[in-house]
Amino acid sequence: MAVDVIVAGAGIWGCTVARVLAEAGRKVLVLEKRAQIGGNVRCETDENGIEIHTYGSHIFHTHLDDVWEFVNRFITFNGYQHKVLARYEGKTYFLPLGLTLVNQFYGLNLTPAELPAFIAQEAAKGLEGRNLANPTFEEQAISFIGEPLYWAFIREYTRKQWGTDPKNLPASIIKRLPVRASYDINYFPDYRQGIPRAGYNSLFERLLDHPNISLECNVDWLDWRTRQDSTLTARPVFYSGPIDALFGYRFGALPWRSLRFERETLEVADWQGTSVMNYTGADVPFTRIHEFKHFHPEDKETMARAKTVICREYPKTWEPGDEPYYAVDNAESRALLARYQEEAAKVPGLVVGGRLGEYRYYDMDQSVGRGLAAAKAYLERN
Ligand code: UDP
Repeated sequence: MAVDVIVAGAGIWGCTVARVLAEAGRKVLVLEKRAQIGGNVRCETDENGIEIHTYGSHIFHTHLDDVWEFVNRFITFNGYQHKVLARYEGKTYFLPLGLTLVNQFYGLNLTPAELPAFIAQEAAKGLEGRNLANPTFEEQAISFIGEPLYWAFIREYTRKQWGTDPKNLPASIIKRLPVRASYDINYFPDYRQGIPRAGYNSLFERLLDHPNISLECNVDWLDWRTRQDSTLTARPVFYSGPIDALFGYRFGALPWRSLRFERETLEVADWQGTSVMNYTGADVPFTRIHEFKHFHPEDKETMARAKTVICREYPKTWEPGDEPYYAVDNAESRALLARYQEEAAKVPGLVVGGRLGEYRYYDMDQSVGRGLAAAKAYLERN
């Protein structure tokens, strides 16, 4: 097949780009360095029919119309609505931070109208004497929920997750956590959410199933480009690997947080009664336990079978050879990123995107959205 464009990396961003370009008549060569497509959304199905999210739980949720319409062309969602519970000092609470949690925690019956004043009062107590011109993660969190809730549900979880005192973290991280003045315990505010009925892998297989797309796995474009003839290497490239790797870590490696997963198969139909249980105290070293079968309540047969897979998630500092999961956002990493971005902007025909390429935390829908936008921008120029 003739090649018009190369897509390096078959994660959610790369597969979206490839599909849009292919539908616009471009011949796309997709190169994936792993043996399989799907990036960190890749799942495995075990011998008991349980879909295991190899890289941690993924729940598709979005408020973006174009993204929802796009993915629904390829898959059907099962209507799963994500709830997260939190275990703290032997008790189990419903997240997110809202009426359910506050009333449970304080033993109150506050109404939606009463909650803001209660929180403001708690926040004021916790923030007394602090200068809030440029709030840290901790100050932002206390201003959202007050000190007692911060200590119970945020402080230690965040310390485990990020390996540092929350005082050193940017306030932007906590802004990901929804705070609600209602009993709504849906973790995500998006009503459009779910898990692909046929599994996540089917999304990637269908995205790339197009006559204008050819796929080669086990090919790392970073090596491949140095070996190929110049006519192919001169093709436009959509690259979604780490941006520092693209330049041989010339200015140093960008810092990441990584994760270690400890998986166990248990001989019970249901071990924890929910898909994700956060452990917000310092008494255990893991942050959460995933129980994957709960993501497919429509699969009655697997749900009833006396087998389940649970997975404990342990955050760790990224070292060479580890999977990069969370970009560590601080002044130093931002400056380093800017240097790499400057280099990338000098390379004609190169578009760098995705979570690794942009060094950003992206939900899946944001990656699809960014992929749609990148492909559209390219088509407008070419
Ligand atoms: N967080 C927390 N306690 C929780 C859940 C989340 O303190 O029980 C904080 C923590 O700092 C985390 C951030 O909120 O990094 C974002 O959490 P989210 O659940 O959105 O993260 P993800 O599931 O994407 O890792």
